[in-house]
Amino acid sequence: MSIERVIDTSLHEDDIDEKAVEFSLRPTTLEEYIGQTRLKKNLKLSIDAAKKRGEPLDHVLLYGPPGLGKTTMAGVIAHEMNANFRVTSGPSIEKPGDLASILTNLTDGDVLFIDEIHRLRRVVEEILYSAMEDFKLDIVIGKGPAARSVRLDLPKFTIIGATTQAGSLARPLRDRFGLQFRLEYYANDDIQKIIERSAGLLETKISKDAAKLLSERSRLTPRIANRILKRVRDYADIHKNGEIDLKTAEDALKMLEIDELGLDPADRNMLTLMIEHYGDRPVGLKSISALTGDEESTIEDFYEPYLMQLGMIERTARGRIVTLRARQHLGKI
Ligand code: ADP
Repeated sequence: MSIERVIDTSLHEDDIDEKAVEFSLRPTTLEEYIGQTRLKKNLKLSIDAAKKRGEPLDHVLLYGPPGLGKTTMAGVIAHEMNANFRVTSGPSIEKPGDLASILTNLTDGDVLFIDEIHRLRRVVEEILYSAMEDFKLDIVIGKGPAARSVRLDLPKFTIIGATTQAGSLARPLRDRFGLQFRLEYYANDDIQKIIERSAGLLETKISKDAAKLLSERSRLTPRIANRILKRVRDYADIHKNGEIDLKTAEDALKMLEIDELGLDPADRNMLTLMIEHYGDRPVGLKSISALTGDEESTIEDFYEPYLMQLGMIERTARGRIVTLRARQHLGKI
């Protein structure tokens, strides 16, 4: 059985409202984008240079755990380049023809964002190689002996790829991104600023100490910070006068069962099951998935990165090991 998670960093396609709010909370300029200082500095330089030359920006690869602001940054880049922002994703491009039609519909300077680019099918990916390198599209017309290959010119565009798993990207694809940036977990102070900014946009009053408390529970991740803020705001609307002070924040977090490290019942459940079944021996991803009922990719993308960052789980060649720190935290020592 898998537990519904407040701190789920995935975005559900059917969750229209949630998505609408997320979009309205997204910063649109580099100035508004909080944190990721190194990335912003490097990007600004490349953007200014490209603008000065009157050329599109080199292709950009953004990688790192979900919810850290890759999609947001892609939108910011398009905005800063005064370019159209087109969005697609690896799994949604099924055939080479789908990609060909997306590419031929672009205009000069457009930014094409491909989310989950590691999930592009190989046959689709191969089309991207010449498109990214020479702005040419190689297509085969006809079948059998009469088939011939034609080269079409494409407009000069910028691809921004986002992935949670840079390691699983094919080398030739990865090499075609002139700019590659890893998004880092945020400092608590920056998460606090994001919470205060979002509260302002949601027209919710929040005290400094309450915002600080929520920032400490947000797994250093903006998407989770916004999720928690919205849940706490709901709690404040129902149980209090709508304002979030320290006591309200504490009570709401207790109700949401988010502990002082930002772990929720699903994390604690996974760690507890691993300890009970395997002790301090390594556990394979498949076995963890069988224990919790979650997909392996969910465990890899959504549970593990933060638990590893906290030093609760270690990844070894033989599997994942729950650390002493995790056993201490859960009182299972
Ligand atoms: P990713 O694409 O890495 O999964 P998103 O770009 O969708 O992450 O970001 C998730 C949410 O977090 C967005 O709704 C956005 O409002 C917020 N967010 C992300 N990065 C920042 C930031 N640097 N400053 C303010 N809000 C941010």
